[in-house]
Amino acid sequence: MTLTSTTPTPFDVPRYVPVGNEVELFRAARREGLPVMLKGPTGCGKTRLVEHIAAEAGVPLFTVSCHEDMTASDLLGRYVLSGGETVWQDGPLTRAVREGGICYLDEIVEARQDATVAIHSLADHRRELNLERRGGEVLRAAEGFQLVISYNPGYQSVLKDLKTSTRQRMVAVELAYPSPEVELEILRGEVDVRTEDASALIRLGAAIRRLDDAGLREVASTRTLITAACLIRAGIGFVDAATAAIAGTLTDDETLRAGLVAMIASYA
Ligand code: ADP
Repeated sequence: MTLTSTTPTPFDVPRYVPVGNEVELFRAARREGLPVMLKGPTGCGKTRLVEHIAAEAGVPLFTVSCHEDMTASDLLGRYVLSGGETVWQDGPLTRAVREGGICYLDEIVEARQDATVAIHSLADHRRELNLERRGGEVLRAAEGFQLVISYNPGYQSVLKDLKTSTRQRMVAVELAYPSPEVELEILRGEVDVRTEDASALIRLGAAIRRLDDAGLREVASTRTLITAACLIRAGIGFVDAATAAIAGTLTDDETLRAGLVAMIASYA
């Protein structure tokens, strides 16, 4: 499990360019103490949006990248040995509950159900966390606590699906790839490259997203376009940069890759 924890200052709110009504929806859910389910393809800005919301609210953010070996203890906490003594160490979810932070469970469908069972009572009106391993201690979520989960609906497996009752208690904030105008604004805000390179990358990204049945598991995300722009900024030519950041990362299939490289060349 990878965990990052940050307590931002109001002065460093990560930049997030709204694509639709997601920022307003997220803020409204926060005000009402409702958990949020962020849905969208990889690299479309889910993590950045949570970072933005946490920073503007001035609350700590605990990000957990979920995976199938994650256990409930990874979220809740465990007893560890420290200086010859056994002491309890809060996990990220417990810390967020105590400190009134946001706990962001990224790619929740990767996690097994037993790891995520703790979120049910936090997602409903009780906003409580039951620490069974601490003798059934029950924590009420501090003011400011919010549960946020994300997943990519494209990868969703029925087996690993969330409990319907939990889903229905959440606010679904759905993110899609931005329009070319907005994506250009995002790109130019992240990486300082020439306008013609930026707009060629955006058009290339849009063209890849329009491909039907190309056999690609994923299409070019905003993240891949930003990576290509970074390489261009670092002195790599357009075709090589886009090949390395986009064609090479989207597929290992030689024919598909060659098709993408030809497309890239036509936008150079
Ligand atoms: P996800 O969590 O959906 O996989 P990220 O939030 O990590 O995606 O987004 C990838 C990168 O794309 C971010 O680091 C940021 O540079 C950029 N990005 C994507 N969408 C936006 C947006 N709406 N505003 C600002 N930056 C964005």
